[in-house]
Amino acid sequence: MIKCLKGNVIFAEEKNKLKVMPHSYLVINNERSAGVYESLPEEYKNAPVEDLGDKLIIPGFMDVHLHAPQWLNKGVGYSEELLPWLQKYTFPLESKFADIKFAEKYYKLFVDELKSSGTTRACIFASRHYEATKLLIELMKESGIGGYVGKVNMDRNSSEELQETYEDSVKETTMLAKEYSGDDNALVKFILTPRFVPSTTSELMTKLGEIAEKYNLHVQSHLDENVDEVAWVKELHSDIPTFTEVYEHFGLLPDNRTVMAHCIHNNDREIEVLKKHNTFIAHCPLSNFNLASGIAPIKRYMEEGLDVGLGSDISGGHTLYMPVSCVAAVSASKIYHVSHKEYSPLTFAEAFYLLTKGGGKFFGKVGSFEEGYECDALVIDDSNITSIDGMTLEERLEKFIYTGNRGNIVRIYCRGKQIK
Ligand SMILES: [Zn+2]
Repeated sequence: MIKCLKGNVIFAEEKNKLKVMPHSYLVINNERSAGVYESLPEEYKNAPVEDLGDKLIIPGFMDVHLHAPQWLNKGVGYSEELLPWLQKYTFPLESKFADIKFAEKYYKLFVDELKSSGTTRACIFASRHYEATKLLIELMKESGIGGYVGKVNMDRNSSEELQETYEDSVKETTMLAKEYSGDDNALVKFILTPRFVPSTTSELMTKLGEIAEKYNLHVQSHLDENVDEVAWVKELHSDIPTFTEVYEHFGLLPDNRTVMAHCIHNNDREIEVLKKHNTFIAHCPLSNFNLASGIAPIKRYMEEGLDVGLGSDISGGHTLYMPVSCVAAVSASKIYHVSHKEYSPLTFAEAFYLLTKGGGKFFGKVGSFEEGYECDALVIDDSNITSIDGMTLEERLEKFIYTGNRGNIVRIYCRGKQIK
């Protein structure tokens, strides 16, 4: 079925330039965009048109790294850095997801908030629990938004309640891989999720590499987030030159199918390894600020041709509402620029690209309105945001991203289907 939305359409076709089309038609052919037109082409003349007046029509937001169980901890514990924070806040909370009733109550609220935030695709860590992970996959399917959900693997250096055995980890991961792989077109898919190197034994990482290969799974994890973490990985795997190469060694950087969160302290050698495998980078500036982890050289990654998207990293980050991460990405790049003059700060257009088309690339042809892209769209009513008459559409978009909120998102489409 073909339908058309008429409004002020804005999207990021290129990395550093917004495509702005006032009072234009976004043509939706079933799941995909059939293009944006200033006047409706003859072939679509009979298609129904909904006129949205002066509202903005933009792509859905992409969140390429977050932890669903940690949603309950957002806004708490930021006087600690990563490793003590995990022990003190994260592991005790995640262990509660062994209780399926507890998981059901809070995962429902989490999915509702994720959806109302305008995020149409997300790459999600659940906890290490099989039942609760399965439940989260099902709740995501019901919600109408898409992405990846993974059961966390962790068989060393955890808390007593949360740590799993090698045998259980392999068994439960394989069950989920069998249940949720094979359908390339599924809107919600399973993703292999070793928590990070210190949490997984060499034996388990070897097996997970085999499972990734066998079921053609995508992989998500954390990389070079915190200096103490990097030193710990060096201690645990002194025979492997770098953190990145530990994942590579165990087959956990499958080409074009891996997303690594943070990538703050990577050296040149590691960047070459990421390029070799076309590894996707999840930039999580709010988390990096909150846990004093550092600032990732995002402009360098973009210039070197690596794919980058933005992650809320709940609960390292404190909000699921992705425009806050978009603004933080700009801020982080400006602070980075002060001590690295060779890399200019991100422009607003570049940050909006990361928020939409950049992050969307991890999910397929998602995050843009170019013809053939899966149509994820938000309709924005910014009439309650005080603006000066005559402000351009680019300025209105920037103002909405910086000063708007969930209430300005009046409609949401995922894969061509209206879900709000
Ligand atoms: Zn994380």
